[in-house]
Amino acid sequence: MTTPTIELKPSSSPLSDAEREAILANPGFGRHFTDHMVTIKWTEGRGWHDGQLVPYGPLSLDPATNVLHYAQEIFEGLKAYRRPDGTVATFRPDANARRFQASARRLAMPELPVETFVEACDLLVQHDKGWVPAHGGEESLYLRPFMIATEVGLGVKPASEYLFVVIASPAGAYFPGGVKPVSIWASQDRVRAVPGGMGDAKTGGNYAASLLAQAEAAAQGCDQVCYLDAVDHKWVEELGGMNLYFVYGNKIVTPKLTGSILEGITRDSLLEVARDLGFESVEERVSIDQWREDTANGTLTEVFACGTAAVITPVGTVKTDGAEWTQGDGEPGAATMKLREALLDIQRGKAEDKHGWMHVLG
Ligand SMILES: *Cc1c(COP(=O)(O)O)cnc(C)c1O
Repeated sequence: MTTPTIELKPSSSPLSDAEREAILANPGFGRHFTDHMVTIKWTEGRGWHDGQLVPYGPLSLDPATNVLHYAQEIFEGLKAYRRPDGTVATFRPDANARRFQASARRLAMPELPVETFVEACDLLVQHDKGWVPAHGGEESLYLRPFMIATEVGLGVKPASEYLFVVIASPAGAYFPGGVKPVSIWASQDRVRAVPGGMGDAKTGGNYAASLLAQAEAAAQGCDQVCYLDAVDHKWVEELGGMNLYFVYGNKIVTPKLTGSILEGITRDSLLEVARDLGFESVEERVSIDQWREDTANGTLTEVFACGTAAVITPVGTVKTDGAEWTQGDGEPGAATMKLREALLDIQRGKAEDKHGWMHVLG
């Protein structure tokens, strides 16, 4: 694999400090974008080339561009946090880079070298450092690397040309009014991923497939869908964009990776953080019946979802065909909140980074 250089062509008209500060006062999620983006091309026979940091702006695509028809697309999501000393750091960007390579393999796309992925993210954060919210709260700069098939034509085959792009968007606190449990609809008929499918790849197609199930969850009065496995319709997999954890007193359990579950970096990190805090953490299959029964008999004390966007979200009410129950007293549980604080403290540079997860950019 070639490692391309990234040429710097920064914007001559970035937003003024006052305009940027006005956005940072209430950024929301995914609504505002920074001044720059990084783009790198790949062409068959030539490999990665033409890396550039350029002003953020529209892409121009032929209507017959491959990705618009056959969805050969993958993406990532990671955050840059402001540290107490004013420097900025991203959380485990190498893990995102490796997962991006795994997603690329699944979708028959070229693999971007890990160091190029990390360098592209670093350059964007360095040039748009003013967009990283102040230290103190849970605000961050969300990075969205993605890759699309850019070959023009309607033939169905792996494309011979691709574009890798990284954009960045300031993200407000996920729970501005304090952490609030989500209600979930455990769908008995919609599935997110099938064995041999692409459930373990981070690709837009999985999200397109989830929108109808999400709408059905909303119609049931729930915030999120929980997917069960596609064969037995009983093993708990994950939510549309977050992994799950079950708290059994001092033991935390997350569904074992089966190929149809997305391997979350937050999920993986929590296996370690939990051990640091004295919990036992394991990966095991959990069925929807066990979930209901263990909640009823009091052994399953808390359930939470996890992912880069919300870090940890407590699960309050669970609803499925013919049953409904509430975890604990419906309020965020103590273990959930303890794990949430511990991981956030590492990410914000408030706690010791003993696993070497923080990538400090200065
Ligand atoms: C991205 C994603 C997650 C969470 O992964 P993190 O690396 O923790 O952000 C979980 N499930 C799905 C389907 C995802 O796309």
